[in-house]
Amino acid sequence: MDERLDPWGSVEVADYERLMKKFGIESAVKYQKKFNDLIYFRRGIIFGHRDFGRIADAIENRKRFAMMTGMMPSGTFHLGHKMVADEIIWFQKKKADIFICAADIESYLMRDMPLDKARKIAIEEYLTNYVALGLKPENVTFWFQSDYKKEYYRLCDIAAKEVTFNELKGIYGELTNGKIISALKQVGDILHPQLKEFGGPRPVVVPVGTDQDPHLRLSRDISSRLQGFNMIPPSATYHKLMSGLQGGKMSSSKPDSYISLSGNPKTESKKVLSAKTGGRATLEEQKKLGGIPEQCVVYEMCFYHLVEDDKELEEMRSDCKSGKLLCGECKKKCSEKLEKFLAEHQKKRVEAGKIVEKILKQK
Ligand code: SF4
Repeated sequence: MDERLDPWGSVEVADYERLMKKFGIESAVKYQKKFNDLIYFRRGIIFGHRDFGRIADAIENRKRFAMMTGMMPSGTFHLGHKMVADEIIWFQKKKADIFICAADIESYLMRDMPLDKARKIAIEEYLTNYVALGLKPENVTFWFQSDYKKEYYRLCDIAAKEVTFNELKGIYGELTNGKIISALKQVGDILHPQLKEFGGPRPVVVPVGTDQDPHLRLSRDISSRLQGFNMIPPSATYHKLMSGLQGGKMSSSKPDSYISLSGNPKTESKKVLSAKTGGRATLEEQKKLGGIPEQCVVYEMCFYHLVEDDKELEEMRSDCKSGKLLCGECKKKCSEKLEKFLAEHQKKRVEAGKIVEKILKQK
């Protein structure tokens, strides 16, 4: 299996242990216990990290730190994206300075997305949903790669001199002009919060799925080569990616694979009824052998998003395994939970407008 990670392609990880060994990602087990107020730590969804110790120290000892994340605006905001939004909000509650990038240039270069359309998607899909999920305007810097401050562009240019073409090839594989420009923009996105104009050197954490690790490795290497900036290599957390409704990847380009957070609650929640389950071929078999929650997308949705209470989740798992719970009833319950969540979320989206405007103004 080719385990080169491709931030612009499709990455499905079969063996996380092997991946961590290969790319030098450390286990997040000790932080899963320490920060169990975040469901993604508590349930082991955040499985790995780089230098998260610096961030843990900052949180526990009330030192300054920042969180940076980016989105490539190319389609609807779905349940798979919600994970990053929840992480942003969690870091904001832990007093991080929040930096959120709308990677519209990357979207233009790699997905052929017109800049004005990318801008609309970034605001109406991503930022509006972030606010509806709980993002506050305090300490938030939000920018478009196509429209930001000169110090950021200067940093992207200076970073270009600190890496060779062959190093880029080693990290990303076959290169195109679009990939090179996107990679260097990512370096600017990740490192610029440490420029004096943006708060100066301090620990910065970037929560990502494993597919984004190449950008982290490049940014960390360049941060230690840049002279005179005193940058601290950025930290990262790595989360497992949620499966699509039919298995495989949850992708904005496949409406059958995702639950949209901006769509009609009834239509979206109905999709659960035809999702891939870990159920058996017949009712009799399921009653006798039980289902397989580990292979079930419905269970995964509850595990990641819909069942906050650990006891309730454990009950669902054991009832499934014992054959007491059957897929029809289980899917119906999950679909109802989702519809309720989406209906409330829609109301919050309508109320989000003023805060979204405020965030856009304070760039
Ligand atoms: S009973 Fe529920 S959790 Fe178990 S396999 Fe069926 S849908 Fe999945």
